Amino acid sequence: MDLREHLKDKKRIVIKIGSSSLTHPETGALNLTKMEVLIREITDLRNQGKDVVLVSSGAIAVGSQAAGFPKRPERTEEKQACAAIGQARLMMIYQKLFSEYNQSCAQILMTKSTVQNNLSRLNAYHTFEELLKLGVVPIVNENDTVSTYEMKFGDNDRLSAIVTALVGADLLILLSDIDGLFTDDPHTNPEAEFIDEVHELDEDLLKMGKDTSSSNVGTGGMASKLTAARLAVSSGADMIIANGKDFRILHRLMNGEHLGTLFAGASGKDFYLMDYLEKL
Ligand code: GLU
Repeated sequence: MDLREHLKDKKRIVIKIGSSSLTHPETGALNLTKMEVLIREITDLRNQGKDVVLVSSGAIAVGSQAAGFPKRPERTEEKQACAAIGQARLMMIYQKLFSEYNQSCAQILMTKSTVQNNLSRLNAYHTFEELLKLGVVPIVNENDTVSTYEMKFGDNDRLSAIVTALVGADLLILLSDIDGLFTDDPHTNPEAEFIDEVHELDEDLLKMGKDTSSSNVGTGGMASKLTAARLAVSSGADMIIANGKDFRILHRLMNGEHLGTLFAGASGKDFYLMDYLEKL
């Protein structure tokens, strides 16, 4: 079975965008040209009748730029303050751009305890379902403003895999500043080979999860992407890691072009989200 050819039949898609794919590297401010393309691509998926959830990073990056920090702050309180400023800015821009296409969007902020607690996990699930039924694009981020170390997912790669499992999505697309998975770090090893498809996410592959992300604006490296892949794939979804430098890659991926690394979903296996949360 050609997995790439079946991507166009996916019904519920979670798309995760890293901070480095949303901001200008020189200043950390939002790249509006890229965001316009992203919103057009997502709305076009909606126009094809697909449910789309966007997991967007960028709150801290945008907030720290707006608050005048020369670089991403390190103190927790500073990061939380920046997230509060940046998340509101981010949503304002998303609302504006989506409204140009008459597409509604909504904000969902989660912490680890949202999914650990049975009642709030169920509440979150119902909210997602209701929003998707209404044709709205939920935009998810970690609730950085209130979450501290013990409550944190750590990064939005893991968060997007949890959301994928929670809403029963059949595809997760992680857009980052890397092309996909290589046999070794391509920055240091010119012999590193690109991996087009992964059918079995075994221990050897998971060990390859060295930090190959070159960016310093987000938090997720290859290790967190592989952790996310293990969760998403176990829940039955296919997952793609691809480069977010040009968001038009979204329709190219859906058309079956061989871009990024595709991880095949493990179908027919028992899956309990709670088993995975303990390992995150
Ligand atoms: N939640 C963080 C933010 O919006 C980003 C986390 C990540 O990049 O993984 O700034």
